[in-house]
Amino acid sequence: MPPPPDVGPSRRNNLGGLELATDLTYIVATVASPTTLDTNTNNSSARLIASGKSAAIHKDLFSIYIKNWRENLLKTISSELVYHLTHIMIKLFDSHCHLQDPRIFNVAPKLIREAIDTGVIHFAVNGVSEKDWHLVKEMSDSYPCVVPNFGLHPWFISDRTGNWLNTLKKFLEATPSAAVGEIGLDKGSIGRQIDFTAQVEIFREQLQLAKKLKRPASVHCVRAFGDLLEIMKSTGPFPAGVVLHSYMGSAEMVPELSRLGAYFSFSGFLMSMKESKAKKMLKSIPPEKILLETDAPDALPKASKSDSLILIERKVSVAEELLDCGENSPSNNDNAADNTCHDESGASELPEVNLNHPANIHHVLAYTANLLEMSKEQLADVTYRNAVRLFSYEGSKLLQEA
Ligand SMILES: [Zn+2]
Repeated sequence: MPPPPDVGPSRRNNLGGLELATDLTYIVATVASPTTLDTNTNNSSARLIASGKSAAIHKDLFSIYIKNWRENLLKTISSELVYHLTHIMIKLFDSHCHLQDPRIFNVAPKLIREAIDTGVIHFAVNGVSEKDWHLVKEMSDSYPCVVPNFGLHPWFISDRTGNWLNTLKKFLEATPSAAVGEIGLDKGSIGRQIDFTAQVEIFREQLQLAKKLKRPASVHCVRAFGDLLEIMKSTGPFPAGVVLHSYMGSAEMVPELSRLGAYFSFSGFLMSMKESKAKKMLKSIPPEKILLETDAPDALPKASKSDSLILIERKVSVAEELLDCGENSPSNNDNAADNTCHDESGASELPEVNLNHPANIHHVLAYTANLLEMSKEQLADVTYRNAVRLFSYEGSKLLQEA
């Protein structure tokens, strides 16, 4: 993966809030008066940027400066400034994450704010069991940027109540803006311990519900792509779309899955796939079917410098750590899921106490764009438009915004 330019120790790890404001002041002061780097300039706009907390104000003022001082900017801009500028201008859609996850729920408002500051406009937040659907709904009610998804993840089917399907239907009926997810099939190390016949039955019911309601479904699939294809063929097609999240299947399966309505979404787990295989698979995907996601708090991307990632540190007991490995890391790739907790294959060399931040979608963007031999701006634009189209079903918040 091409590492982002070295942004210097004082500005790493924080692309939002006051530190970003300070950087913008630095940029504006530099552009407005290229001979001085004095951030205590009397320029009123620069002072406003320094004191303001709204990302919208930053962006508006900065856009004016870009327009007025474009020539000077191009002459004086450094790689550090390009780095920040790129983050500000790019719009991204996190097509699959779990901001309601108990490991990060308490800091979710901060994570959302920080990710928005870097250009992430929407977050498709996926519930995983009856226990967290109300949290997803609350988050959606509080944040216009959150697209809610309700679903029963295969890892949690043994905890389901006898009334789970009715409860799910009620959540989906009461929340017209919601999609279905996370649902799926798992024959990996964790999934093997869960009755596969029951997984299939529960997955099929939720997939049919999504089809009936004409809403997209977000799907987890680990080592069960043959079963997935068979079920999608017998219950599909899915004109409302099916998100194959953190897709790790083969290039050969892409055309048939795509014809059935699949979208292919990529997270930091892509970095654990052999590069040549990932490249072949990515290039087989129709451009209108590709999406980006973080799967946060899991799927921490691999970075050449750990401090270029935005990390969520946590202090946990050994007992909680074990619980998280077994119950709270519903990631989509068996090896990568293991890496999240055991760090065996090098998908991430960071300490296990670090969780993924939704702003790290920029690392997924850079890595995927490089494999596709596209610019980050092109891929951001394509994936953003794909996600907006996919999540614009009847009742969607995206239609309300339009
Ligand atoms: Zn997930």
